[in-house]
Amino acid sequence: MELSEKAIIERIRSSSGSAGGELLVAIGDDCAVLKRTGNMLELLTIDTLVEEIHFNSVWHAPLLLGRKAAAVNISDIAAMGGMPRYALLSLALPGDFKKEWLDDFMKGFLACLADYDTELIGGDTVGSSGGITISVTLLGEVSETELLRRSTARAGDLVVVSDFLGEAAAGLELCRNGYHDKGDGGGGWQRLLAAHLDPEPEVALGRLLAASGRVTAMMDLSDGLATDLAHLCMESGVGAEVEASSLPITDKLQIAAELLDGDPFEWALRGGEDYRLLFTVAEGHFEELNDQVRSEIGRTLHVVGKVVDGSGVTLLEGAKRRDISYTGYDHFK
Ligand SMILES: [Mg+2]
Repeated sequence: MELSEKAIIERIRSSSGSAGGELLVAIGDDCAVLKRTGNMLELLTIDTLVEEIHFNSVWHAPLLLGRKAAAVNISDIAAMGGMPRYALLSLALPGDFKKEWLDDFMKGFLACLADYDTELIGGDTVGSSGGITISVTLLGEVSETELLRRSTARAGDLVVVSDFLGEAAAGLELCRNGYHDKGDGGGGWQRLLAAHLDPEPEVALGRLLAASGRVTAMMDLSDGLATDLAHLCMESGVGAEVEASSLPITDKLQIAAELLDGDPFEWALRGGEDYRLLFTVAEGHFEELNDQVRSEIGRTLHVVGKVVDGSGVTLLEGAKRRDISYTGYDHFK
């Protein structure tokens, strides 16, 4: 029997423990959350990158892959409003791996950890009968009063994303078409390529949003807005409406789509791996929050829709309405 990624998670979740005691948040959010002592909560998350599925060694240089392996995990800590602290790294390597690959990978991995004051404290190395598999566990922390979860969005809130969408999907298509090799001279594709090859986790912004007290729910965008917002809605027991015309798409993304025969709208809605923050905020608090983000971080937030009573994610395109829940990236499709 074939299961979707969502069905697999639900199957595992139904057989695991639920929150209680020192476990404040169990399976279902970006991190598990433990409350041990004092006012700081512990955040725990794990992510795995598999060769040929999550990365292709033809265009993913080991230095950038090392950075990305750290960054995608740090992003889950940022999604809770937290600070990353410690990392564990597990590598499954085929017998013929090159030691230069390992050296460059570790250089990138440790440099990205250092960028966010995070220390590698252990791990595991094993052989692989197939390609390379990289698994990273990250421990972080956040104060009890600033923890942001997926499950606390309220009907009436605005749905906000922290930057332009679809850039990682466009970057991947550029790599598939050989543009990673052409440098920046030709197309000026550096930003889109970097979105796929070397994403930057939103730690500073996540901290600002958490400390603002304005944000009602938050997660990071890893599987595309259509799927990630559906997760947030399900956990919060609400629905959401997304305005097609409000999806933040750059001119450069449009040009890339024309060049590669892609659909910028599909990339923005369903493309995975943007690692931007997706969050909800009461309408009356948005302008003030946006001003603060602009002045302190130099970025502009984008409202893409609204939280409503009900369930699922509805796309509004003029007079048309359609359910787009869970139509983003699925590893098992
Ligand atoms: Mg996440």
